[in-house]
This record gives sequence, structure tokens and C-alpha cells, in this order.
Amino acid sequence: MNAHVLHVTRVPDDVSDDFEWTVECPGGSGCRVWFTCDVKDCAIPSPYDREDGDPEDGMDFVARHGVEHQYIEGDWMTESGQCAAQGTDVSDAVFEIARDRGLGDWPVEVDYEGDGTWWLNDLTVTDGGA
Ligand SMILES: [Zn+2]
Ligand SMILES: [Zn+2]
Repeated sequence: MNAHVLHVTRVPDDVSDDFEWTVECPGGSGCRVWFTCDVKDCAIPSPYDREDGDPEDGMDFVARHGVEHQYIEGDWMTESGQCAAQGTDVSDAVFEIARDRGLGDWPVEVDYEGDGTWWLNDLTVTDGGA
């Protein structure tokens, strides 16, 4: 669980589709963006190049230069300090929440959908008909 708070400060209206927001990140690790490691000489062989087939369990995690690397979608990646919800990657999700909820602070869950795609799940509880 990584509840972030989405502050919607401008919503799309009849005149403009523009919207503005900020996201408050609670910390933790569920929402960090992973990037291909660009440290020089950090060339870890692919765990899938082994002659005896698939990597054993745990083979796709390796510690190098003091940092944990994970083999994701064909590259060794390291976790950045960057929260995915802080970027424009989630703007489509923000648009839906801003349109449906309006101005305000809304609890959201940051969700990685694969292929570099992130989404925000609206956690606002609606008690039907209110
Ligand atoms: Zn975050
Ligand atoms: Zn590295």
C-alpha cells in the first residue's frame, strides 16, 4: 500500500482541458521509477544468456557498486529516487480523477502496469448516491 495524495488545483472545464496538480509522496519503494543502470563498467551479463536455460530464482537480482539491480524487460535497472506519480507519466490518470472528482485532495495508489506505464488508482471511497 502506498497511498499518495493527489492535490487537484485546476480541473478541465468547458473552456479548457487544462488541469494542474501536485502529488504528495509518502515515501517507501512502491512508486519509484527504475532506470537502466548507466554506471560505467557496470556490465552485468544477462541472466538469460546462460547455456542451461532460465535463470534460477533470484538470479535476476544482483548487487553491484552497492546498489541492487533488477533485470526488467531486458535491461539491468536500478531504482531512482524519483516517484513515478510526480511526473507526467500519470497525467492521463490524473485527468480522469480531476474530471470525476474535481478540485481537492484525493488519495490515490500508484500502480505499475508494465512497459514503463504507470497509473493512479482512485482510492476515494464513495458511499453511493451521496
Ligand atoms: Zn511516491
Ligand atoms: Zn550498475
